Amino acid sequence: MIEPNSELVIDYELVRNNIHVIKSNLPSNCKIMGIIKSNAYGHDLDKAAQALDDAIDGYGVVRLEEALRIREKSVKPILAMQGVYSSDAYDALKQNNIWSVVHSISQLPLAKKYQDDLLFWIKLNTGMNRLGIVLNELDQFQSLLKDSNVLMTHLACADNPEDELNDAQLKNFDHAWNKVANKMQRSVLNSAGVFNFPDQAYDWVRPGIAMYGGIAFPGLKTSMTFRSQIISIQSLNKNERIGYGGRVKTDKPSKIAIVYCGYADGFPQTVIDGTSVMVNSHKSKIIGRVSMDLISIDVTEIPDCKIGDWCELWSPELSILENTKKNGLLSYELMTKMNQRVKRHYLNI
Ligand SMILES: *Cc1c(COP(=O)(O)O)cnc(C)c1O
Repeated sequence: MIEPNSELVIDYELVRNNIHVIKSNLPSNCKIMGIIKSNAYGHDLDKAAQALDDAIDGYGVVRLEEALRIREKSVKPILAMQGVYSSDAYDALKQNNIWSVVHSISQLPLAKKYQDDLLFWIKLNTGMNRLGIVLNELDQFQSLLKDSNVLMTHLACADNPEDELNDAQLKNFDHAWNKVANKMQRSVLNSAGVFNFPDQAYDWVRPGIAMYGGIAFPGLKTSMTFRSQIISIQSLNKNERIGYGGRVKTDKPSKIAIVYCGYADGFPQTVIDGTSVMVNSHKSKIIGRVSMDLISIDVTEIPDCKIGDWCELWSPELSILENTKKNGLLSYELMTKMNQRVKRHYLNI
């Protein structure tokens, strides 16, 4: 074994396949604003803008800085989803042909000043109560309510189609749509929305996590593999305790493998016993507390497991959702918080 390291292997062919799954769920005239905020959910902003340029119709980010970086790589539409706040920033949007979201009445004076030079997405608060203008503020936006601009909203419960808030939000959005006399383009759906409310697809959808395989839908695959190597194997008797706090005791003679990664790589310290990992194409389970730099797993049933073998914490074959569901975590958070020391490999850019 050469010096071990924890690794993130990011396969852009899988991201493009996931986009294909998203598209096959939508009308063919609906455009995809692929969301690559937060360093493309941990998949690298620059690499994403390279690898996905033919697969999507535009890029959604949060910050102006991200938008400018993508503009160096792509001529596609770019949307700064949390808006901008100064004349300098609006000038930068203009020079670089970047779209932005107007979500608050406080942005109106500057937005109006630039209304003939820039495209805007006007964000409505239909019930999530985070960002967006409310229905009775729409009148003040009259000059921005034109067909080159987009009317958007964001659903708070798109991942739970039974929640009554969805209906309420969609009704409010319809109401606003009628108020602007059907003049604008429309955008409502994030990833979960694409699968749960495909009839609300309209002109643009805004999938993020689904591109990376972080929600459950047939055909989607986790596009990043987090893995590290086994650096030690312990043979234990029945009734021996493992790791800090000795929180778990063997219930049989056991083989325990020690994997070269831990919470300092970004893997959650709170992960519980029984969380799935994969070794040599066999499922195995975490046993004992996650340390800063080490994780212990039960490989008793895995034939020929040896030092140097790779342990996958998640991968295309072991959905990241197995980990997040068991531990009450979010795939979004796991993907975006992997630490710098984890070595990155990019495939199929
Ligand atoms: C992050 C974000 C999205 C993408 O959400 P996913 O759940 O990752 O698909 C879409 N729209 C807005 C406004 C967002 O902030």
